[in-house]
Amino acid sequence: MNDIFATLESEARSYSRTWPATFDRALGSWLYDEDGKPYLDFFAGAGALNYGHNNPILKRKLLEYIERDGVHHGLDQATVAKREFLETVDEKLLKPRGLDYKIQFPGPTGTNSVESALKLARKITGRESIISFTNAFHGMTLGSLSVTGNSMKRGGAGIPLVHATPMPYDNYFDGQVDDFLYFERLLEDSGSGLNEPAAVIVETLQGEGGINNSRAEWLRNLADLCRRHDLLLIVDDVQMGCGRTGPFFSFEEAGIVPDIVCLSKSIGAYGSPLAITLIKSEHDVWEPGEHNGTFRGNNPAFVTGAEALRQYWSDDTLEKSTLAKGHRVGQVLETITSKYDGTMAKGRGLARGLGFEAPELAGKVSKAAFDRGMILETSGPESEVVKIMPPLTLTDDELEQGLQILTDSVEAAMA
Ligand code: PMP
Repeated sequence: MNDIFATLESEARSYSRTWPATFDRALGSWLYDEDGKPYLDFFAGAGALNYGHNNPILKRKLLEYIERDGVHHGLDQATVAKREFLETVDEKLLKPRGLDYKIQFPGPTGTNSVESALKLARKITGRESIISFTNAFHGMTLGSLSVTGNSMKRGGAGIPLVHATPMPYDNYFDGQVDDFLYFERLLEDSGSGLNEPAAVIVETLQGEGGINNSRAEWLRNLADLCRRHDLLLIVDDVQMGCGRTGPFFSFEEAGIVPDIVCLSKSIGAYGSPLAITLIKSEHDVWEPGEHNGTFRGNNPAFVTGAEALRQYWSDDTLEKSTLAKGHRVGQVLETITSKYDGTMAKGRGLARGLGFEAPELAGKVSKAAFDRGMILETSGPESEVVKIMPPLTLTDDELEQGLQILTDSVEAAMA
């Protein structure tokens, strides 16, 4: 491995920094190092590669677009690629679900979408503070970081710009305390200082926080509480959207309709940056130019993003296979957890996790998997959860191969 990563690249790098390989090519569910050694990718760019690496259908569209000199950089220009993207989002995502959202392009990545959501919520309500949840992750810029419920991640940056009040996430107290009732009491008690926040921001399933699922009932209660207290509900679907939990939006199972939705990662579908913020029409109070940026019109990402929606979201094939594959992962996790004390199965859809009471075991599993040719990352405040997030498009054979490596790696780590 080339030492320039150690000598020249900043220590800030995180994900995948410890994998002792230099990657060169990638196709479908596989990454290849520079010597051609294959690795089964069960991390999928932290949810940015739901349709796999260099998906051939998307690649063809992208190459055609580049060959015909389609506009590459477009700021906020009206382009054919953007028009088709907007039309496809409307046709494949919004209309079939009866959703009335306007679409904002807030900047290239997930954190930009969160920033726009926080700013907009404050502008709409004229209020300042935001409620977020323990172990939430919303991004690395100051606004999104200030609603991130992880002290290590907030560490270097210090002063929150947004006044964020972290609440216990669903089941945080293992059912011993009704965390929801606690939340409601604080809101109603003007002495608590929690009265009149602008919004609540929530991931329906915390990815970086350690694959912490929330129950549909809890989400419905949350949406109801927001309505009663006149708070905007922001769902950050940056990691769990685009089909990761089964349906396109992770909040669909709960039957709620957030005021604002943040999407990025797989919305561009080919692994290049694109973010969108969905805003209920009545809340689109932006003035022209109030939230701008140079790299919002990523036209090649519009092309691949629209094609992915046409290919994978014209019917429920991908949703069903994601749920079936997720169920299969769940079965294997149950087998593992029934065999080893101090382990727990987490998640839903193809956002699954294997949690360890002894955090170092998760790292050992990840390393053992790498030695066996598979990429598995960890998440959670103490990196105590092995994340199982393959591309949604992986084959059944690849799934079985990965689950076997997972099982073997756990056995090796526990030995
Ligand atoms: N929100 C969530 C839920 C995320 O998982 C992430 C990235 N892991 C972000 C926001 C930030 O996205 P980005 O890294 O593209 O800025």
